[in-house]
Amino acid sequence: MTVFEPIFGRCECGSVRFKVDAPALEMYHCHCARCRRLHGTLFATYACIRTDNLVIDHGAENLATYSSPRAHWLFFVTAGVT
Ligand SMILES: [Zn+2]
Repeated sequence: MTVFEPIFGRCECGSVRFKVDAPALEMYHCHCARCRRLHGTLFATYACIRTDNLVIDHGAENLATYSSPRAHWLFFVTAGVT
């Protein structure tokens, strides 16, 4: 049996830091035009979590939101990345 351990992440410059304290509910690749344009790639890979399992440890003031009918993204305002 695998024991989940919290996942810690940050943006490239370290202004935003976060923790995910539960396993992903699902993961998938999306090849739609919106995801290709948003990520500048042939597809995007997503790990879906409950929002109450995401803790922004530092730099929440540097985040803005973007929503579509299917998803809700946080992106880093300074660098303009998700
Ligand atoms: Zn997509």
